[in-house]
Amino acid sequence: MPSTKLNPDQLKAVTYTDGPLLILAGPGSGKTFTITEKVVDLTEKGLSPEKILALTFSEKAAGEMQERIENKIGVGSGITVSTFHSFCNDLIREFSLYLGINQNAKLISKEHSHVWGIKNIDSFGFQNLAIPTQPYDLITSLLEGVSQLKDHLVFPEELAEYAGRKLEDDSMDEGERDVLLKLSDLARFYEHYQKYKSENGFLDYDDMISMACNLLETNDVVRNMVRSRYDYVLVDEFQDTNFAQLFLVHLIADGNNLTCVADDDQCIYRFRGAYLANIEQLQEYYHTLEKIPLEKNYRSSSQIVQLSQQLIENNPQRQEKKLTAHNGEKSEVKVVKAPDDVSEAEWVADEITKMINEGVQPGEIFILTRKRADGKKFSESLKQRMVPVEFVGSLQLNRFPVVREAMAYLHVVADPFNNGIAFAKILSREGVSEHNLQKINLQALKISRDDSDTGDGIYSVLLYHLDELDISQKDLIRSIVSRLNELIEYKKSHLPSDTVKHLLSEKTDLYRTQLQEDTLSSRRNISILNSLVTTVEDLELVDGGSELKTVVEDLELVFGLDLDEGVSSDEDTVKVMTIHQSKGKEAKVVFVCDMATRHLPLTYRRKAFTVPKELSKGRQREVDEKVLHLEEERRLAYVAMTRAKEELYLVFPEKYEGNKRKVSPSEFLAQLEYTSNPLIEYLEAEQFERNSEVEEVSPLMKKRDEYLRMLSMYSKQGQLKQALESLVVLAQLREIEAEGNLAAFDAKDFLQVNPKEPKELEDLIDNNIPPLVDPNMRFSASKIKTYQDCQLKFKYGTVLNIPTPQKAYFQVGTDVHSVYEQLSKMDMKGESIDITTASKLLDEIWDPTAYPSRTQEQQEHGKMKQMLDFWFRFEADNPNETVAVEEFFDLDLNGAHFGGVIDRIDRTPEGEYIVIDYKTGKTTLPKNKLKDDVQIALYCLAVKEMYGKLPIKAGLLYVNPDVQELRMMDVDEERIEAVVDGINAVVARVLRDDFEVDGEPNCYFCDFKGICEWWEGE
Ligand code: SF4
Repeated sequence: MPSTKLNPDQLKAVTYTDGPLLILAGPGSGKTFTITEKVVDLTEKGLSPEKILALTFSEKAAGEMQERIENKIGVGSGITVSTFHSFCNDLIREFSLYLGINQNAKLISKEHSHVWGIKNIDSFGFQNLAIPTQPYDLITSLLEGVSQLKDHLVFPEELAEYAGRKLEDDSMDEGERDVLLKLSDLARFYEHYQKYKSENGFLDYDDMISMACNLLETNDVVRNMVRSRYDYVLVDEFQDTNFAQLFLVHLIADGNNLTCVADDDQCIYRFRGAYLANIEQLQEYYHTLEKIPLEKNYRSSSQIVQLSQQLIENNPQRQEKKLTAHNGEKSEVKVVKAPDDVSEAEWVADEITKMINEGVQPGEIFILTRKRADGKKFSESLKQRMVPVEFVGSLQLNRFPVVREAMAYLHVVADPFNNGIAFAKILSREGVSEHNLQKINLQALKISRDDSDTGDGIYSVLLYHLDELDISQKDLIRSIVSRLNELIEYKKSHLPSDTVKHLLSEKTDLYRTQLQEDTLSSRRNISILNSLVTTVEDLELVDGGSELKTVVEDLELVFGLDLDEGVSSDEDTVKVMTIHQSKGKEAKVVFVCDMATRHLPLTYRRKAFTVPKELSKGRQREVDEKVLHLEEERRLAYVAMTRAKEELYLVFPEKYEGNKRKVSPSEFLAQLEYTSNPLIEYLEAEQFERNSEVEEVSPLMKKRDEYLRMLSMYSKQGQLKQALESLVVLAQLREIEAEGNLAAFDAKDFLQVNPKEPKELEDLIDNNIPPLVDPNMRFSASKIKTYQDCQLKFKYGTVLNIPTPQKAYFQVGTDVHSVYEQLSKMDMKGESIDITTASKLLDEIWDPTAYPSRTQEQQEHGKMKQMLDFWFRFEADNPNETVAVEEFFDLDLNGAHFGGVIDRIDRTPEGEYIVIDYKTGKTTLPKNKLKDDVQIALYCLAVKEMYGKLPIKAGLLYVNPDVQELRMMDVDEERIEAVVDGINAVVARVLRDDFEVDGEPNCYFCDFKGICEWWEGE
């Protein structure tokens, strides 16, 4: 007997077995309950559970459905509840002989495919696609392009043939030709990719579906065998199927034994190939298809159901549904206009704080945005109010300190000669003092200058020169080096993954410490380290097997990718997530934010590759892509709104920080007539004033100040235990600031410190510890700039001298300067120069091995040629005479020594001087900032010292092909003095060993992220 809790529509859907059925299930209409009851009903009607197949999209959904069904019909019933992918995976392995594939073929991960693509980019023979320096996005688009083709069961040769045939037509326009040329490159990539997988025993998810379709379509015996296994087939979330999945269902279901459950209004995965037209295609396959709508919404209030319905009704060609609400009347939906995005975040955070104070649990609140980046401000504002919050993001392993520590060891073991930063991290995490580190680095610098075979020299110092150094902690350092040496030996005869396991378990405390703890944080760290091992196991198979050094490089590539969709925890925290991440979830209160133009709906962007209409399978809607995009964005807004059970807020700012122009509210809000709709209460948030009282007294900052005061007080009074407790609270507050909650905070981990060695302590007491900075330090413009950008960067690079890897773009800069110098010198001597001379000079110094790929090397070489051309054009129009190039200078400013090299000094026909500095990068300094530039000020002073007067002009010559411009300023003595005052202030701080970060450093390109505590804290 079907459950008495079923409503009439659900009952009809459960008991209908007269033919194929499509259940059109609106949000909150009890879809899973209905499917479960249907399975129970089928078994009660005599069907064996073993002959029922239920297909879902995610492992999570499959697990939940299996559990619910087995609660009803008993565990071990034999029913198959599976995702599409694992069903196909089992099928192709079972029939691998028919397919000619290895039964043990491994699943290729997205990381593996990306790394393979990036590393082999030179081999695909692209004829039309430009390869950028960082080809991550290009490879992502190519892999997405391949995936879409597979969704339509289109194979590489078919695509190549199509593009080739079409290109023969001379009458097509430039745009069409460009698309086809790109498709030809996609076909080349696709072919290489398939070949790589097949030769190395890999499959991807799309292969599983397309191979299963191919097998069932072409082999009657197999198809009949598989069909006869199932008397009934159920498909959940049918709206998310792509053509290949629909075709698969069609191949295994005979037409009378099929139930699909779909909500066309919740189809939000077009980018993954889900096409609404599949519902129409289903009808075409099964003419007797019965449609039963589930129209009672048990989740949301009447206002939410009605309003979301009003919005989605703007989409054409929907399946007929008349949703009614069965969760009572609640308050109106609130539409909130904020003057700007900062005020928007503050208003939402205030509203949430009020709710929580009134008893709403944080876990009952969602903040949803279309773009992930838009969510960040809400998470920050909530943290300031100490509201537990989780910004649901993608899982990037290197975000975790434990992975960064493991990576330091891995880098050193993979290549001990060129990993100064990793060495610094290891030595300091194992307790070696900064003074000792500084001396090791200085000695390494000397050694590496004398002998380039020693790399950055650190390993050589540690191996052979430790005794010569006047440092303490030598025994400790020897024991660290000895463990590293054992690992370096170990890697020679073991797989990279075995070396990693040996490193984590035996040769470091990384696993051990976590295992001894058993806290939430240590469990998370163990699982993160396990993921690191799995990733290494995966990457060591790239290109048929790789060495540790290659695997470590590949790991760094993988860390740069943003592949995984965020998974939220079950913690009682406010969840800030994208609308896509909220699919299938619900909350008592939902804020749909940033409902403004270009944010929701997002601006339409043409995909890099789309499947040509002629090759697409299944039914297609003859509608412009932009229209389809807008419809999908509306469905996204609908999905977001229907997550709310009781209270729904639709929020938009009128302006975004940094933009002068206002933005309009989302067109979806306009469609809802938000200022006059009786279902809506329209509110206007007040302007949030920066540096206002609110910011100064944010609870988090108040608490932090309070505990800082207590820490200082207890320390001064000698109440050290209380001081320590205050310190722990400060660390917890910092964790809330960084993570939004304390779920992963581990006090024991925090308290793990390295007490000073007895000798160090003695020195400390006797005041024998010298400052880190040499009082005779020689300064330069770039050192001052580095300090101004980030005080810690200055400390790591200039004071501790931690070696960093050489960058390819530095190579370009060095080469350009060198050629310009030689050309100018020849010119000054009266020798004739032209572009041929310049090209020859360039070829003499060009080192192709300095670049990561041949393609990049060729591109950089091309750019260099353009830079040389530009130089000749500049010279042709330059009326002045060059009097010095690469001119060294020494300056004394207030007792501090400064040195540097001026790229070029010109003299005007009137006898005045002009200073020019070549810039090879793309980043430019606005003209009005030249007067504050430290480098220019110092160069001007140096010219005055050398030639007796200040230059009249000074500036930068941008030679990069993307800029090519001369930016000059008139030299003003007073302004230069003001810059010098700033320089003096920096020098004074440096000489005090003051490295406190006092701004917002730009860490993105910083090499010291691996050791930087400030960055780790952020
Ligand atoms: S990572 Fe950021 S804070 Fe740390 S040294 Fe680099 S720039 Fe400075």
